[in-house]
Amino acid sequence: MDLGIRGRRALVCAGSKGLGRGSAEALAAAGVNLVLNARGAGALAETAAAIRAAHGVEVTEAAADITTEAGRAAVLGVAGAVDILVTNAGGPPPGLWRDWARDDFLRALDANMLTPIALMTALLPGMTDRGWGRVVNITSQSVKAPIAELGLSNAARSGLTGYVAGTARQVAPFGVTINNLLPGIHATDRADALDRGAARVQGVSLEAVRAARAATIPARRYGTAAEFGAMCAFLCSIHAGFIVGQNILLDGGAINATF
Ligand code: NAP
Repeated sequence: MDLGIRGRRALVCAGSKGLGRGSAEALAAAGVNLVLNARGAGALAETAAAIRAAHGVEVTEAAADITTEAGRAAVLGVAGAVDILVTNAGGPPPGLWRDWARDDFLRALDANMLTPIALMTALLPGMTDRGWGRVVNITSQSVKAPIAELGLSNAARSGLTGYVAGTARQVAPFGVTINNLLPGIHATDRADALDRGAARVQGVSLEAVRAARAATIPARRYGTAAEFGAMCAFLCSIHAGFIVGQNILLDGGAINATF
């Protein structure tokens, strides 16, 4: 399927690895030029080079911490006018409710709620002026069904979800869509770190933790960054203009709900 976005320009945040990289690769495969962000310049340069070589699109590297005001200013300065925004950042650490203080919540809110909102605030006006735009926020299945030890993530991402629900309806008249993608367990460094932590706490092998988690998923496996990226690119396509303010779960059926 031709996604109809060849020659468009996308800013993909936190995109040197994992789900952000999967999204960047799928957009590049559709002919989209990229501004690619991550903190570590080395991995970012490697990913950018691989995407250029594979897809022949322009990839501009923007190494910065997207969760800081200075980092966002640097990335937005490089990005200029973009048609497509994919927001993403690292997730907050796991823990227990009684250990989280105000500063922990402020860090989580900054990274996973206020950063995507700031990026939308900066880039939506250009999209609405030009009459076309796509925003995809990478959030989490924890918005739909809480993951108790990720309470900081549950809280911050729910705030973003509420913001998107209203704002998506305000920009839709201008040809701009905003939607959220909710990953369940995907095989990335993040999932690996959580699995290693669980193995340590439970005193079992990494393989045992992985097998036990996969068994909780009806698809009986973790998702892949490529599958995730394909959905992200579709949401950014010309075919998805009628999908507005939705929260799309990619979880292999893990959350047991009728809809
Ligand atoms: P990942 O494999 O660890 O990759 C994270 C990417 O984000 C890397 O490119 C990393 O590069 C970049 N990054 C992290 N913090 C950043 C920051 N402050 N500024 C700019 N770039 C940053 O993670 P992932 O699994 O793709 O997860 C992506 C998001 O989805 C996270 O918020 C995660 O919580 C959420 N999620 C993931 C899963 C899953 O199973 N994988 C499930 C639910 C939700 P640098 O470190 O070099 O910056």
